[in-house]
This record gives sequence, structure tokens and C-alpha cells, in this order.
Amino acid sequence: MVQPSEPEFEQALNEVYSTLKASSLFEKEPKYLKVLDVVQIPERIIQFRVVWENDNHEVEVNRGYRVQFNSALGPYKGGLRFHPTVNLSILKFLGFEQIFKNALTGLNIGGGKGGSDFNPKGRSNNEIRRFCYAFMRELSRHIGQDTDVPAGDINVGGREIGYLFGAYKQIRNSFEGVLTGKGLTWGGSLIRPEATGFGLVYYVEQQIKYATKGKEDFTGKRVAISGSGNVAQYAALKVIQLGGKVVSLSDSKGTIISEEGVTAEQIAVIGKAKIAFKSLEEIIKDPAFETHPVKYIAGARPWIHVGQVDVALPCATQNEVSGDEAKALVAAGVKYVAEGSNMGSTQDAIDVFEGERLATKSASAPAVWYAPGKASNAGGVLVSALEMGQNSQRIQWTSEQVDSELHKRMINLFEESIKYATQYSKESNKESLPSLVMGANLAGFVKVADAMFDHGDVWA
Ligand code: NDP
Repeated sequence: MVQPSEPEFEQALNEVYSTLKASSLFEKEPKYLKVLDVVQIPERIIQFRVVWENDNHEVEVNRGYRVQFNSALGPYKGGLRFHPTVNLSILKFLGFEQIFKNALTGLNIGGGKGGSDFNPKGRSNNEIRRFCYAFMRELSRHIGQDTDVPAGDINVGGREIGYLFGAYKQIRNSFEGVLTGKGLTWGGSLIRPEATGFGLVYYVEQQIKYATKGKEDFTGKRVAISGSGNVAQYAALKVIQLGGKVVSLSDSKGTIISEEGVTAEQIAVIGKAKIAFKSLEEIIKDPAFETHPVKYIAGARPWIHVGQVDVALPCATQNEVSGDEAKALVAAGVKYVAEGSNMGSTQDAIDVFEGERLATKSASAPAVWYAPGKASNAGGVLVSALEMGQNSQRIQWTSEQVDSELHKRMINLFEESIKYATQYSKESNKESLPSLVMGANLAGFVKVADAMFDHGDVWA
């Protein structure tokens, strides 16, 4: 039974179940209904105490977690998040999404997620290192290259993965591919830092091509992005590379709006400053923002401030687009919405976007087309799985190899969602574009469910 105190998990569960139930899957293949009861319960949840010493030699204590949700398709795989809001509801929602996302990549990875309520902001480098070592002291008993392979997520980037890897190596006396997002000289994959943002933009490229029958691409499109961390930075860079204009970025304190478009130089400045946890408000004092000025709006998200937009890419955190903000985006002309963040849109926002899609009157005038994070942000975990493959073979691919594999697999993943949505849709408006939420949920669910039947996790 769903715990009433787990609102984010309940929301993620409802999104998957409601779309599966609106399709014809269970009518055509009733055996899949049984899977719903089983798949919603994690195979294992590990909770632990993390005691560490701050710079004043005082004891600090945090909660640590790893949710090993589903291993039907491979070792548990999913990031670690360090943020004061982390709790079991958040990690179960992220882990549940991860199961189907990982299935969509077509690679052998199960679903998991973990993290801590530790807040790294305002902490010294030494404190972050001591925290990572204390966290791994317990986590190291439960993970391994063939068991569970964590990666980064919010506030867990290259530096933290380095400390976590170092701690694992010391504790277990084993140099192995137990984490992804590693440094390039010790087992990392080229293009892993870029992968989620690049993959997101490759996915949207397919949406644009499909909806306009190949007549349009990113050239000249106005793109609103939220967040200014790993995913947002590389999504923005790829949009600029493809000829689009990035009209916004944001962080937890506020938003910047750039009428003429954020530049690649400004993104490089943001990337450097964010490692030191600086806010955008401070960062825009850098000379890079003198020649191309931006407007700063404190305490705001971008969506109602961006003016006319063609594409919206939420890339900060969950539930960062409300129903009203979705309506504002629609009024601003948005045609494509794709999540870099996990569950970036509230259910109200999804209802607005999906309602617009269904109201399409003619195929030549496509309305809004929404893509859920579990499909559009799968590029990160996809390249993580390629990193695992390179580690197993003790080789390193070139950037071109990784990027081309990422590109190819994002196209496959998009087409797979279209195929499933078309096959199982009961929607009567044949002029509307297929539902990418329904398609992604169906494609991921069926693959996981079939493996669970094969393993005897569930039976008909
Ligand atoms: P980062 O920590 O690098 O960046 C997060 C960004 O979001 C920062 O700009 C941060 O602001 C902002 N942010 C975080 N929490 C909030 C909040 N509660 N309200 C407003 N803004 C917030 O994380 P990532 O870029 O790695 O992750 C962003 C999203 O993408 C997450 O939802 C994550 O789960 C998802 N994702 C990440 C993947 C990856 O490979 N990294 C893969 C797939 C999905 P500030 O700087 O002020 O803290």
C-alpha cells in the first residue's frame, strides 16, 4: 500500500499508473495488471546514520539512504542526491522513475536512487570530503560493480564522486567501476558530464523534426531553461550550438532572463562559480555579463517571465512547473516542453500540456508536446551505462564514439515511445501527436515486467 506520507512517490506512481490504465495494455494483456502491485515496492531500502566531523571538530550527523528499487534488468543504477530536502518519499519517487528510464535506454541496468539530507552549501572542501568518506563507510557494504552502481545527482558532481570513489577503494581494497561520473584518468567516460543536457536536446530535436515533418530544427528557436547546474549548463550549450537562443537560467534564489540569449562564455563562468556554490545573483557581477547583460529576478522561476518561447526545458528540480506556470508557457507560445529534471512538472502542469496536445485540431498545426523526464533526461544514465561497459573492458571510448552512441540511443528511445503510444492509445483525436508520457511509461513498464515474469518475481 502507498504510504500517505510519501507525496512525491505517490505522485510518480500515479503518473505511471494513470497513463498505463488509460491505454489498452491491460485489456489486451491482463497479466500485466499483477505487476503493478509488485513493482511499486522497492526490493530493498537501506537507511543509515552518517556521523562526521566538521571543521570545528564537532560531531555532525545526517541521514543516509539507498533505495534498491528493481534489479530485473541489471544492477541497481541511479544517482546520489545531497540536499536538505532528501527523504524517503523523494528517493522512492526518483528510484521508481529510474526503473523505467533505465529500461528505456535499452541497456542492462536496474533502478535505484540514494543520498542524504546533508547540505553541502557553505561547507568547506574538507568537510565535504569527510562527509563523503563517512557516507561511504556504510554505503560501501551494499554496492559494487555488479550489484549497485550509483552516480551523481543534485549537489553530487565530479568532486563528490572522486571522494566517494576514494573512500570505497580504501574500505573495500578494490578499484572497480562502482560509481559512474568518474574522473577521466581513473575510469570515467568522456561526455558523461555533458550527457544529460546533450541527450535532452537530442531528444527535443526529434520532437521538432517529428512534429514539423522535418521542416524545422533548433535554429532561431527561443528556449527557456531553468536551473544552472550540470544538466542546465550542457543543455544550454547544445541549444546554442544548434542555433537556438537560451532566454533564461535560474537557481534556488532567482532567475536570469536574457533577451539576446545567454552566451557560451557566460555558461562557462556559471559552471566554475557553481562548484563553489555561488548564486546567480553574485555570478552575474562577472565581466562576462557586462557586454551581454541579463535581467535578474529574485525569488522567481523563469516560466512566467520569459516572454515568447518555443521550447521550455525544466532542468532544476521536481515540481518546478505549476499548473499556472504551464498555462503561462502555453500563452507564451511554447510548442515543446521536455524535462531535464526528474518529475519537473506537477500533475496539474502535465494536465495542461497534455490537454493542449489533445486539443490539436490539425496535424499541420501541432499544439504543445510534453516529454517526461524519464525519457528526455535518460542521456545521463545512458552514458553512465556506457561508462560501466568501458570499465568492464578496461578501455576508454573517444568523445565521438560516446556522443554518437548517445545520439543514436536518444533517437531510438524517442521512436520506441512513439511506437508504444501509437499501439496502445485509446485517444479518439487522430490529429493529435502521440502522448510521450504514455509511450515512455508503456515502453519502460513492459520491458521491466517481462523480465520480472522471466525471473519469477511475478507470475501469471
Ligand atoms: P545540480 O546540483 O548540478 O544543479 C541543480 C540546479 O537546480 C541548481 O541550479 C540549483 O540551484 C537548482 N535547484 C536545486 N534545488 C532547487 C530547488 N528546490 N528550487 C529551485 N532550484 C533548485 O544538479 P543536476 O543539474 O545534476 O540535476 C538537476 C535535475 O536533473 C535534478 O532533478 C536531477 O534529478 C535531474 N537529473 C540529473 C542527471 C544528471 O546526470 N546530473 C540525470 C537525470 C536527471 P542552486 O545552485 O541555487 O543550488
